[in-house]
Amino acid sequence: MSTNTTSQKPLPEFLQGSKAKGLLIGGKWQPSLSGEEVESINPANGQVISRISIGNADDIDLAVAAARRAFEGEWSTWKPKDRQRLFFRIQDIIAKNFDELAMIETMDMGAPLARTLPLADFCMQLIGFFGSQCHAATGETMPNSLPGKYTTLKIKAPVGVVGGIFAWNGPLMSQWWILGPALATGCTVVLKPSEEACLTVLRVAELLQEAGVPDGVINVVPGRGPVAGQALAAHPGVDRISFTGSTETGRKIIQASASNIKRVQLELGGKSPDMVFADADLDKAAIGAAAGAFMNSGQSCTAGTRIFVQRSIQDEFADKVCKYAGSLKVGDGLDPSVNLGPLTSQRQLDRVLNYIDIGRKEGATITAGGERIGGDLATGFFVQPTVFLGVTNEMTIAREEIFGPVVSLIPFDDIDDGLRMANDTPYGLAGGVWTKSLSTAHRVAEGIKAGTIWVNSYNVLDPNVGFGGYKMSGYGWKGGRSQVEGFLYEKVVYLNLD
Ligand code: NAD
Repeated sequence: MSTNTTSQKPLPEFLQGSKAKGLLIGGKWQPSLSGEEVESINPANGQVISRISIGNADDIDLAVAAARRAFEGEWSTWKPKDRQRLFFRIQDIIAKNFDELAMIETMDMGAPLARTLPLADFCMQLIGFFGSQCHAATGETMPNSLPGKYTTLKIKAPVGVVGGIFAWNGPLMSQWWILGPALATGCTVVLKPSEEACLTVLRVAELLQEAGVPDGVINVVPGRGPVAGQALAAHPGVDRISFTGSTETGRKIIQASASNIKRVQLELGGKSPDMVFADADLDKAAIGAAAGAFMNSGQSCTAGTRIFVQRSIQDEFADKVCKYAGSLKVGDGLDPSVNLGPLTSQRQLDRVLNYIDIGRKEGATITAGGERIGGDLATGFFVQPTVFLGVTNEMTIAREEIFGPVVSLIPFDDIDDGLRMANDTPYGLAGGVWTKSLSTAHRVAEGIKAGTIWVNSYNVLDPNVGFGGYKMSGYGWKGGRSQVEGFLYEKVVYLNLD
């Protein structure tokens, strides 16, 4: 592992000036009613890069009212072709401004430019995919056995006001999984991003206004989860919640949404298994599996943090993973050669260091990393990419989501033994398998109880295919037709034509 210090890049215009970023409600940028503000901290150096207004339940009330007015207003008369043209304009304007957005994301949540800049392609795919869904609200006519001359048909309509609550680990992309299907179907939105990293959401909202999104269709209220998030999830004026975050908060969202029986989509945490068989191409598997765990400094819901390695190749494989961990350049993500940025916050840093400590105390062996990085990076929230050996599936580090660059290598004997341990987790978000045998690949893909399985790859994603979770990783799907369907009501009509 090598490290670097910060590079001197000019601040994006959006981050200049001392005025706090406001909330977007009904097309107007305004301070929160309480006047509360928080500082946005660059996790690479601890410096303040911006201030943001923090909304509470009263601001959520205003935003939901604005979204309702917009839903029932002129927006409801927009034809699918009008919404699709809007998507073309959005795609254009986001593409033109993507370098700035990538830089803001890097400074706000820490992911390096080497990660955020290439997201442009995926972002365009996301916007393009949801733009293609503007004509998706197709119904059907169904035969019936009713006496007389009945025609029966199913029609669809947008669900209404959508509350979007999501995590800090990649807001630049996360927001599109809500904005996309909402705009495609004619819904309106109140976004409640995490106050820990929301600057790209605020900047995208400005760009959406420029692209011609009508006032009130998209509203943004950054705020604290138990206050603004809770108010949005419980709000009687909200028809659907799209949530991305931890399983613990997901449970609270379900409880809050019971007030008016909202539709809920939950994308929650994970502790995903990645199984490496002795017949795999070990060089590819080591890099692929380790990258799948360390990506975004491990702050990724699908991170394959439990790597199950067939016992006969354990030592050889561990050497390769440690070599890869040591090759990663950790530092301020504004340096384009950096692969791994800091953790997003002091809170996250403390959490990850605590888990590393627990791993040590429970008897696992650290074979790479394991420490906070000091020296020139001491003011940032950096942890070395860490590899634990001698881990059992019962240890805390193999059971709980760490959300940091920490991976556990766990030996298995045969496919049944591996699958038993892989599935011995409350989570079911994703999984992977590395093998040259088609039969092994199939058995593992079918055997792991999780929503997304990668074979000889990890973390690739296509918006038309999407992903989702089993068990305590949530329900509902992100991407593909089924996500768009979730933003539509179905209605059947019995037409008596006598
Ligand atoms: P979190 O659950 O603490 O917060 C997520 C969002 O919920 C934030 O906006 C937060 O302010 C809000 N929130 C918190 N308490 C709330 C409450 N009581 N009511 C309503 N809203 C509330 O999660 P986090 O720490 O921000 O993010 C990390 C978690 O997100 C990890 O568990 C990770 O796996 C998960 N995640 C899942 C996916 C996925 O697609 N499955 C993607 C990214 C992150």
